[in-house]
Amino acid sequence: MHLKNSKIIVIKIGSALLVDSNKKIRNKWFSNFAKDIKKLKSKNKKIIIVSSGAIALGCKKMNFNKSRLKLDKSQAIASIGQIELMNLFTKTFSKYKLNISQILLTLDDTEERRRSINAKRTFENLFQLDYIPIVNENDTIATSEIKYGDNDRLASRVAQITNADTLILLSDVDGLFTKNPKIFKDAKLIKKVDNLSRDIGNINIKGMTELGSGGMNTKIEAAKICNLAGCNMIIANGLYLNPISRIEKKNNCTWFISKISKLHARKKWIISSISPKGELIIDEGAKKALISGKSLLAAGIKKVSGKFNKGDHIKIIDAKKRDFARGLSSFSSEEIEKIKGYHSNEIQKILGYVSKSEVVHKDDMVEI
Ligand code: GLU
Repeated sequence: MHLKNSKIIVIKIGSALLVDSNKKIRNKWFSNFAKDIKKLKSKNKKIIIVSSGAIALGCKKMNFNKSRLKLDKSQAIASIGQIELMNLFTKTFSKYKLNISQILLTLDDTEERRRSINAKRTFENLFQLDYIPIVNENDTIATSEIKYGDNDRLASRVAQITNADTLILLSDVDGLFTKNPKIFKDAKLIKKVDNLSRDIGNINIKGMTELGSGGMNTKIEAAKICNLAGCNMIIANGLYLNPISRIEKKNNCTWFISKISKLHARKKWIISSISPKGELIIDEGAKKALISGKSLLAAGIKKVSGKFNKGDHIKIIDAKKRDFARGLSSFSSEEIEKIKGYHSNEIQKILGYVSKSEVVHKDDMVEI
C-alpha cells in the first residue's frame, strides 16, 4: 500500500485545514501542503485537489458566523469566499511554480453520464496543459436537493469520473479506529480495510465526527463509491505539516482497498446505462478486431442509426444484426455518418477539425 503506483491522485482538504478556529489562515500549513504537491508532481503524478473553504473564507471576509447562516445567505457568502479561496491557492501555489485552475461542480455534472464524460475530458485536458484542477461544489447555485452536501462525497465522485487511482481525504483524525478514539483510550487505528461491508460491521462509527460538514459516516460512504469505481481511498490526518509526505513515510492512516480493477468498474458503469441513444452496424473485420480487444474505427462502420452526441451510450450491432457490444461514442451520429467506411487518418480532412481517431475507444466498450 503506497502512492507509488497511483498515477491520478485526488486530494480533498477541508476548511478546518485552511482556517483555524480563530478564523486565521494556516499559511504555514498551506505552504507545506503546496510543497507536498510539488513533490508528487515531480514524480509525474496527475493531481486534482478538492478544496472546501469558500464559506469559511467568505465568513472570514464578511465577519459572519457560519453556524448562523441560512442557505441563501451562505450561497452568497460562498460566492464571495470562492474568490478568496482561489486567491489563496494562486498566491501559495505560484511560489512553487504550480499552475492551478478552478472547476466548480454541481451534482448532475458527475451523476449524469454525458456531463460526467465532458467533465472527465476537461480534467484530462488540464492534465495535458500541466494545470492542477482545484475543485469545489458550485455552492452558489446548489440548493439542498441538488447538493453533494459535503466535499467527501464530491471528492469520491470526482475520483470516480476521472478514473483516479487513489483518493486521499485529509481529515482531523489519523483514520478509521476500532472505536471512537476521542472517548476510548484503547481505540486502535485500522490501517487497511479490504472488505468494507464486512470490516465496517464491527465498528460503531456514530459520533466519530470531525470539524467541517463531513463526519466518519460520509467518509465511509465516499469509500464505498471509490471502491466500486476501482479506486483506493485513504483517510489521513491533514493537521500535520506535509501530510502527504507523512502518508508516504509513516503510513499512519487508513487505506480502503478496492478489489475491482478500474477498467472493470468503468465497463460496468458503461453497461448500466438505461437507454442507448443509437446504433452502429459494423462489418465482420471490425467485429473480430473488437473481440480481440481493439477499439472501433470508422473504417469498420457500415451504418449508423439514431441521433446521438459525443459521449452518448450506443449499441454496437454486427453484420448479422446481433447486438453484441455497448460503448460510449467519441463522435456524434452526424459525424459518424460522414466518416463511416473511411480510414482514421482521413477523418480530420473530412470533418475539417482535429478529433479522436477511434469511434469507440476500447476502454469505453463492453461486449454483452
Ligand atoms: N463547499 C463548501 C465550502 O467550500 C464545503 C463543504 C464541505 O466542507 O464539505 O465551503
